[in-house]
Amino acid sequence: MSGGPSLPQERKLVTAIPGPKSAELLKRRSAAVSAGLGVGMPVFVTAAGGGVIQDVDGNSIIDMGAGIAVVNVGNSADKVVENVQAQVAAFTHTCFMVAPYMGYVEVCEHLNRLTPGDHEKKSALFNSGAEALENAVKIARVYTKRQAVIVFEHGYHGRTNLTMAMTAKNMPYKQGFGPFASEIYRMPMAYPYRWMTGEENCAAEALEEFIHKVEKELGPENVAAIVIEPIQGEGGFIVPPKGFLPGLAAFAKKHGIVFVADEVQTGFARTGQMFACEDEGVVPDLITTAKGIAGGLPLSAVTGRAEIMDSVHVGGLGGTYGGSPIACAAALGAIETIEEHDLVSQARVLGEIMTSSLLEMQAKHPVIGDVRGRGAMVAIELVKPGTKDPNPDAVAQIVKYCTAEGVLVLSAGTYGNVLRFLPPLVMPEHLLREALEIIEKAIASLV
Ligand SMILES: *Cc1c(COP(=O)(O)O)cnc(C)c1O
Repeated sequence: MSGGPSLPQERKLVTAIPGPKSAELLKRRSAAVSAGLGVGMPVFVTAAGGGVIQDVDGNSIIDMGAGIAVVNVGNSADKVVENVQAQVAAFTHTCFMVAPYMGYVEVCEHLNRLTPGDHEKKSALFNSGAEALENAVKIARVYTKRQAVIVFEHGYHGRTNLTMAMTAKNMPYKQGFGPFASEIYRMPMAYPYRWMTGEENCAAEALEEFIHKVEKELGPENVAAIVIEPIQGEGGFIVPPKGFLPGLAAFAKKHGIVFVADEVQTGFARTGQMFACEDEGVVPDLITTAKGIAGGLPLSAVTGRAEIMDSVHVGGLGGTYGGSPIACAAALGAIETIEEHDLVSQARVLGEIMTSSLLEMQAKHPVIGDVRGRGAMVAIELVKPGTKDPNPDAVAQIVKYCTAEGVLVLSAGTYGNVLRFLPPLVMPEHLLREALEIIEKAIASLV
């Protein structure tokens, strides 16, 4: 069976979801795999590409998740496949710190070029988003000789011990897994839809509260880093109001604090810009990237000011697999694809289709409290009609409906009441429109 971009771009259901073959395999999965891992779409995948995922029963499902904003260039993008195949045949691993190879250096050069700011930059490569965050904190602490790390309500930074401490939501990410790393301080997030005194006051008041708390409770001179997602991902695509991020960056600069933008989910064209920080011209000191970087292969990075990145002693950073030659080859293919096909613009095109359609739905269905996001990172927040009370049941029903109809959608949010849409940026527009029609039917069918 051939996958990748050549897969027929259609939604096609030939069985119920899950079909008989997937149902059998789900039993094998339960018998062999830890119960600690959840299941989203209950099918087993045989191929994926463009905007679809094909399963063992022959169903073709519209993919509104892109593996959680990973396959921005699509599954098995031509350039990614070509580069990976050539690299696997040449050599698979030496460990970059043992015997270097050029793929690693080239990925760093691209990151230094593509990330915001025209100052001198350097990069280091790792495997996962969490590992990039861990390393950003290590680097910021060495550079500043300070310990405190500031994070935000609704923030998500990963599942390792340090990044669990940095992540806001308890269930399912943290429950029972403590004790957690110390010196992590969580500040109120500028969340326009739920700001107590109204959206228009959100930026100024959130910033004021932030500054008050840091000055009175922490002491800015103790703070190594402020770490924030420019648009929060798992927290429910919370877009901070204009002024909030620049305000934080200015505060960080004033006090010698390293400002870290966690662009693991927002990066690589997703938001209609190469990086979400660009929207307000914010230039972070360090930026963490992962998900969209390598077309599906595990790779992550910390990129930032050369003097900060170089403050670490030789041997202080690294890891056996970090910046694997295969993942680097994939990243070079993914970056080339993003630039050649102008996926930054395509993210805006897909975003416009989603946003206009979802706003029309909101006018008809009061269960949609908020429509928000940027580029091809769009979400709806579901509430009990006439209130702002979170409505996670509605999300569960919509996910169930869409699953049965062959549309993969993801939920999110501290209250579990957000549906988020992250189509591959190469999804054909007719498939996106079809997915939105099914989402509307799901909303209309809510009881
Ligand atoms: C997914 C994510 C992480 C963690 O990345 P992993 O590769 O799962 O470790 C960190 N930060 C953000 C913003 C993310 O979306």
